[in-house]
Amino acid sequence: MNSLLAPVEAADDKLHEECGVFAVCAKKDSAPSVDPVHVVLGGLTALQHRGQESSGIILGGFEDPARIEVAKSAGLVASLIDSGDVLRLDREGATVALGHVRYSTTGGSGVENAQPLVAHTKKGAVALAHNGNLVNSQLLRELLEEGGSVFRTQSDSEVMLNLIARSLAKKSALEAVRDAVRTVQGSYALAVLADGKLIAARDKNGIRPLCVGELGEYWVVSSETCALDAIGAKFLRDVEPGEIIVADGEGIAGSNQEEKTETRTCSFEYIYFARPDSVIDGIGVYGARVRSGHQLFKEAPVKADLVTGVPDSGIPAAAGFSEASGIPYGMSLVKNRYVGRSFIAPNQDDRERRVALKHNALKEAVKGMRIVLIDDSIVRGTTMRSLVSKLKGAGATEVHIRIAAPPVAFPCYFGIDTPYREDLVSNKYDIEELARRVGADSLAFLSVEGLVQALSGTMGFCTGCFTGVYPMGAPKPGRED
Ligand code: SF4
Repeated sequence: MNSLLAPVEAADDKLHEECGVFAVCAKKDSAPSVDPVHVVLGGLTALQHRGQESSGIILGGFEDPARIEVAKSAGLVASLIDSGDVLRLDREGATVALGHVRYSTTGGSGVENAQPLVAHTKKGAVALAHNGNLVNSQLLRELLEEGGSVFRTQSDSEVMLNLIARSLAKKSALEAVRDAVRTVQGSYALAVLADGKLIAARDKNGIRPLCVGELGEYWVVSSETCALDAIGAKFLRDVEPGEIIVADGEGIAGSNQEEKTETRTCSFEYIYFARPDSVIDGIGVYGARVRSGHQLFKEAPVKADLVTGVPDSGIPAAAGFSEASGIPYGMSLVKNRYVGRSFIAPNQDDRERRVALKHNALKEAVKGMRIVLIDDSIVRGTTMRSLVSKLKGAGATEVHIRIAAPPVAFPCYFGIDTPYREDLVSNKYDIEELARRVGADSLAFLSVEGLVQALSGTMGFCTGCFTGVYPMGAPKPGRED
């Protein structure tokens, strides 16, 4: 199928993050006065952009280590609240709460795969919330199944949970998590409840973000700093690549578990996934996007009357392009925020209508103007043709597209939902042909070097979906494959 006429799931033409993790642990071994459920729901709501297919919360750390309270729901955090289950959680005596929002890649999107996942061991309940993707999970699952383990979900995260639960029989919570993270390969930002403690861990390349904070009576673990801000928590620090952090009633402490670590944070977190008000590994996401706009102008200048961003993804880079070029910045498109991913379009006409419904051109702003239209990425190319056509239909005399990232030409194996390679538009057409297909007067992408320059100037990022060079090997198939 021509990717410019691709299925409706592709209609927002973005890569999708897999998950967000948020957790709290009481600073003393007694239940705090602030309701942990409310704190975690606040954090998860701030992380909603990282996953909209299911959400969940568990409470643990009770006097009885086997006791666990669970509420999960398909859909947004608001659905979890509306379901009423979360209000029925018995929080009396809980000292740890784990939350998760999910967008599925491995395993289906049903509520049975919703996290946090829970296992019961001789030492009590263990729970896990995971953002990332394990590249050797299929092989590990087969080995564990041969050893008698039974899995309830198709999720790679359950493999990690199983490994922790098995080690916990003989070892401490920290040692059990350490054993598990040394066995798996891939990306993980984890929050684990084990033995009444909250344990956070980040893979040796730090591909997915994870940070710790403090809120009154709680230690907090979060995928992004924006969720700390949302609940009024103080940012303490990022979890280092390869680090495991243990928080309990005694305090919080981290230790590096991997002998060889090399930071390769996902560059797409800065380009699109993370919220602009987050700071990852000391780099502000908004600032990185603005700098990518500066760099884009340096690499691909153009004469125009108006710089404008595709709402909302292209706006910070458009502000940067405008600053660097001196061309005024303004709005050209209005986005209908109520056309969501849940809009089911059964046939091609409906799909085209959905794309058309999502944006409208501001005629009074664009008539007679030469426009630079900035976005953060083009994945399948489904939206861009419609936007160019709307701008020209509204009277724009020229539309020049500038993309604040290199062409996405390779899949991601680390927790991002990437289309098949043949559906990636940059894999099918050269830039001139792509410009012709979307109806643009010119089209340019940021270079990989320019992206790295905009992020921090030093290489410490995964750029695999642009270059095909990854921080670690591709997924290992199961033994029958
Ligand atoms: S391949 Fe690397 S840069 Fe691209 S989305 Fe995946 S982790 Fe991020």
